[in-house]
Amino acid sequence: MNGAGPTVASVMGDYGTARREFTWDSARRWLDGLPGGGLNIAYEAVDRHVAHGHGAHPALRFLGPDGVDQVLTYADLADRTARFAEVLRSLGVGPGDLVCGLAGRVPDLYVALLGTLKARSVFSPLFSAFGPEPLRQRMQIGEARLLVTTPALYRKKVAGLRETLPLLEHVLLIGAGAEDLVGGERLGPGVVPLAELWPGTTGDPVVEPTDPEEPALVHFTSGTTGTPKGAVHVHEAVVAHHATARYVLDLRDDDIFWCTADPGWVTGTSYGVIAPLTCGVTCVVDELEFDARRWYRLLEEERVTVWYTAPTALRMLMKAGSAPHEGRDLSALRHIASVGEPLNPEVVHWGLAELDRPIRDTWWQTETGAIMVANYAATEIRPGSMGRPVPGIDAAVVARDVEGHVLTGVDGGPVVLDEPDALGELALRRPWPSLMRTYLGAPDRYATAFLGDWYLSGDLVRRDADGWFWFVGRGDDVIKSAGHLIGPFEVESALLEHHAVAEAGVIGVPDPVVGEVVKAFVALKPGVEASEELRRELLGWGRTRLGSAVAPREIAFQQDLPKTRSGKIMRRLLKARELGLPEGDLSTLEVSS
Ligand code: ATP
Ligand code: MG
Repeated sequence: MNGAGPTVASVMGDYGTARREFTWDSARRWLDGLPGGGLNIAYEAVDRHVAHGHGAHPALRFLGPDGVDQVLTYADLADRTARFAEVLRSLGVGPGDLVCGLAGRVPDLYVALLGTLKARSVFSPLFSAFGPEPLRQRMQIGEARLLVTTPALYRKKVAGLRETLPLLEHVLLIGAGAEDLVGGERLGPGVVPLAELWPGTTGDPVVEPTDPEEPALVHFTSGTTGTPKGAVHVHEAVVAHHATARYVLDLRDDDIFWCTADPGWVTGTSYGVIAPLTCGVTCVVDELEFDARRWYRLLEEERVTVWYTAPTALRMLMKAGSAPHEGRDLSALRHIASVGEPLNPEVVHWGLAELDRPIRDTWWQTETGAIMVANYAATEIRPGSMGRPVPGIDAAVVARDVEGHVLTGVDGGPVVLDEPDALGELALRRPWPSLMRTYLGAPDRYATAFLGDWYLSGDLVRRDADGWFWFVGRGDDVIKSAGHLIGPFEVESALLEHHAVAEAGVIGVPDPVVGEVVKAFVALKPGVEASEELRRELLGWGRTRLGSAVAPREIAFQQDLPKTRSGKIMRRLLKARELGLPEGDLSTLEVSS
């Protein structure tokens, strides 16, 4: 592997200066706004680049099994998204109506997403591997009027649901096999290939004035802790998408950017499509699934400069060893960032050793709509820390009682813990542009996410004396043992440092003496055999690293840890199965094939 990537000054520059000088109002001026007034995400992501003479620049490069499948320039995207908006209008789908997208990473899904926003309708991505029931639930909660999907997914998952979804009037078919159906067989009522409607469109580029507070996106959470919630985001969110793409992902106009998240999730939409396009970069879209060898080849051949991925993917690359990247030239790669789960220090050290580059952790949620806490290109890395709040965001550690409820202070807000390293819940001061505006169909649940001026994240953290945040665990996953609060992340990170361990999930199991004891479920690296000896070795390893109060008391070997489809370990499910309790909502559980 060849040496570290190019060194250039970061977009943000000095963190302290950026924090002092940044305001959301100033970030709003980094964007154009609509010519007739208002703010529309799709205009900022696409049309404004055409207006600035950047139309011929590649916006999306789709890579299929045989190499480059399709390239859409900014001008192509502007035209096709305008036509898609016309199609919606011609079908009577208008401002505020919900459009769902259910497809693999094919070009017209991206056109549909941005075209929907241009029509001032609301887009909700549905992950293509969901089964019929999770799809039905989501479309029903959102009262979806139109679905964009492929013929295969329609036949397999949607056709049987139509009777239960009377509001779903239209289905537009895209992707493999859709064109073959033009003018031919109808797969169901209101089901039309998108290509059949193109000839009726003019490509009129005008985007109607859009109020920044109009709903634009509904993103369902990953369902790691329970039933997924539908977070509603507005057009104004683009201000945060753009600012964080510049400051955290360090994006400049000539970058080649690859976000490995699927657009069925908030990361894949916000940072796989919207945020990078607002910067005018070229996004690489890999239509296939994870494969270590191919991923390194893609990084090399596409000359990827900025790469946004997830700990699960990085751990899979680690597991694959050095062979898949030997001889690969990754010299173009300047910046690597991660999100979705805690980035254990082992992965950061691996990045430095094997890729010659640091991997920078970023923290955010479906609800926050954009990156909130991050490690920046120009600042040092503290392995295991999620970094510091992005400019424009005030983050605090707030006190919880033994039951896990946030304590209310005299001003009606939370009790802020200022002393270094205090353990508490991460809270963020509202407002900011990409904060969710409600949970679809669940306003009460939305209301309980706030206390006074603060949004309560549900995650437990510590902040060190220099202001760096350290993830401890989700509030629900934290283990109470002999008066200590133990975060699963700390225990999992220690286990992951052992050469035999590929993945670990840690829970608390009830114990009559100390309340709960720590139990670890461990997946081993390829070629490592589970044995009693290894179990004892890992127990000893835990005690040496963590001390006996925090170390796991029990270790179980389990190769397939339950994960959400977005790659997060479902500790609640490990726990329910361990204790024989109901398993709860499993709609987002990854089912291993
Ligand atoms: P649900 O809310 O339905 O349980 P979820 O919280 O997993 O699902 P997302 O919004 O996709 O749904 O994920 C956000 C959560 O992911 C965060 O609250 C946090 O627990 C975890 N997370 C994201 N990034 C990081 C990170 N860098 N470090 C630690 N945890 C992270
Ligand atoms: Mg959550």
